[in-house]
Amino acid sequence: MSRSVKTRRTLAASLALVLAGFGVTTALAPAMAETVSNGLQVVGGQAGPDAAFKRIGTVRRTAVTTAAARTATASTSYTFSTLLNGQPVRWDPCTPIRWTANTARGPAGGLEVLQEAVTRIAQVTGTTWQYVGASTANATSAYLPKSAQASYPPVLLGWTDGASSDLLAGQAKSVLGMTRTAWFGLQRPDGSKVAATRAAVIALDSADTLPLRGATSWKALALHELGHVMGLGHVGDRTQLMANVLPPVTDLQAGDRAGLVRVGRTAGCVVVK
Ligand SMILES: [Zn+2]
Repeated sequence: MSRSVKTRRTLAASLALVLAGFGVTTALAPAMAETVSNGLQVVGGQAGPDAAFKRIGTVRRTAVTTAAARTATASTSYTFSTLLNGQPVRWDPCTPIRWTANTARGPAGGLEVLQEAVTRIAQVTGTTWQYVGASTANATSAYLPKSAQASYPPVLLGWTDGASSDLLAGQAKSVLGMTRTAWFGLQRPDGSKVAATRAAVIALDSADTLPLRGATSWKALALHELGHVMGLGHVGDRTQLMANVLPPVTDLQAGDRAGLVRVGRTAGCVVVK
């Protein structure tokens, strides 16, 4: 059990340092807006990609993280990718999330590992995930819809590489995976906004050799990227799976789980209307 004693303020500062140190850019497309007949405006955008890196060297715990741990309260070691009206943009947890996988370029046993990761995310968030079968689609940003539509493609998890996917092109060799999500919603006449994540794509770098399971594995990476899919951002606390350098852990940590609960079923349904 990992406990965090960092405050959100400390985390924010740490995150900025981490991002600067690795040159990660978190691209946030400007919200697209168009007027619809009832006075509502259509809004939408994309979050990510956030690179996940291999663990490099030994993680040194700071005096802050080794100080007496807080007890009995949920960890605050998490961040959200996108906020609207101060609330995280998330899937409607009351609607099943469909997903597919392209494992043609992945390791043997890759699909089972992805299924395990999805099952774990579903468990922690209280969401229902439906596997719709294998996909031959390449995990690129073009997979995502650019505007709100009646139906959306399933969440795609696929092994690819920098030569084939813009999500991985130009990234450092230590980058293991990238996730991009798309969200759409409405802005009401009073200015308030409501939106839901509608699509996501995860690009797993087939050029990397990771074990299937265990610490710093494809399973751990899939959990990290699925955390992004659900709406989590990177956190400066390097003991969490949502740190941008993959920590040597095999499962979601306390902060990861606390963040996932806030974007999951217990946070209520997301109704965009
Ligand atoms: Zn990440």
